[in-house]
Amino acid sequence: MLPDLERLIRLQHLDNATVEARRTVAAIPERMTALDDRLHASRARVEDARREREETQKSRREVEKRHGEVQSRLTRFRDQLMGVKTNKEYTAMQHEIATAEEEVARLEDTILERMLQTDELDAAVDAAERGDRGETEAVERERAELETLRARMETELTGASVERARLTESIGPASLRLFESIAGQRRGLAVVEARNGHCTVCNVRLRPQVFNQILLNTELIRCESCLRVLYHDPNRAPERPAEEPPGDGSANDPAPPGERPPGNRS
Ligand SMILES: [Zn+2]
Repeated sequence: MLPDLERLIRLQHLDNATVEARRTVAAIPERMTALDDRLHASRARVEDARREREETQKSRREVEKRHGEVQSRLTRFRDQLMGVKTNKEYTAMQHEIATAEEEVARLEDTILERMLQTDELDAAVDAAERGDRGETEAVERERAELETLRARMETELTGASVERARLTESIGPASLRLFESIAGQRRGLAVVEARNGHCTVCNVRLRPQVFNQILLNTELIRCESCLRVLYHDPNRAPERPAEEPPGDGSANDPAPPGERPPGNRS
């Protein structure tokens, strides 16, 4: 492979990794905020469950207090019943007693209801607290992971910057200028792979002659459409040369003849 092409490919990989690492670092604060939000939501669920239980308990205490009051009123009425003088007073007193008894029964129902609710709310508070402990652990773990990631990305960025400086020194000035000029116009993407007869970025179909030349990786060839430098990745499965130069008996073409794509004459 042409040494400058090889170095430009490395430079491009380095720049791509740098962009990716910067993007990852930039996204960390937002991910941290999302973790904080999760924690707040979890705490709020605990608070809500506790508040609801508190309110139910308060309501139960009020009902119990009222129950005690009506109960003593009832006792007083029963005592007074002994001392009434007339039938009219007796009937009125009995009416008072019946009313108080009804209220006592109703209050007892309510107390029972509140007790059952409190049991349910105890369970709800337990569940919310358990959930919060789990969420706190998960969030702390994820925070630590993000910190580790940030540190790793920063090390990577420093390393990439050192390597880039070293690498650019070894690239011919004209090749480097070409790279920087295309990168400047093409959002940092100057060197891209050609595959299956196409530029992998702009997808334009390359002329067979051009593609065959790219397969050799012996010069800097630019995409006619997006103007990026194109290369063939030798680690990829061997590419079939495009059907232009009648078979030169190339030795680096191990595929059986049956796999040749149907001739296209577009
Ligand atoms: Zn292109």
